Amino acid sequence: MFDKILISSCFLGKKVRYNGKVISFIHHHIIQWQQQQRLIAICPEVNGGLAVPREPAEQQNKLGKVITVSGQDVSHQFKSGAQQALALCQKYDIYFALLKESSPSCGSTSIYDGSFSNQKVTGKGITTLLLEEHGIKVFSEYTIENLADSLKIKEDNKGKG
Ligand code: SF4
Repeated sequence: MFDKILISSCFLGKKVRYNGKVISFIHHHIIQWQQQQRLIAICPEVNGGLAVPREPAEQQNKLGKVITVSGQDVSHQFKSGAQQALALCQKYDIYFALLKESSPSCGSTSIYDGSFSNQKVTGKGITTLLLEEHGIKVFSEYTIENLADSLKIKEDNKGKG
């Protein structure tokens, strides 16, 4: 059986983004992984209880505190969504995730700086941080080839075992 992969549900065209807009990330690896039924999708922010659409939110000083543009503290919802993403990884024995870059939940190398002025800084989303703390490797749309390589190495090693 193929290893499962956790994926940001917005990559699959689900209407979960803060602005209500639908994006989808059409890539041959994603199409193949879908056909192999190995994708487990989650939007941590929606799972954490936030609506679509919702106010933009950004992490403040990378301290795990997340505030909306009008000043509402939504840290609890972000943390709850992260916990639910981790629970899915544990349920399905997932070691790899493909999450959307720069999101305050899903970013893996950059996030917005908390000033709501479209400035990015080096940092990780709340869900990414929790998954990585538990040994799950998080990739983004920019590193999907690295994810494909990591899956192949893991599967090759399994074959040898
Ligand atoms: Fe996509 Fe993650 Fe943002 Fe949800 S929280 S819309 S899955 S980037």
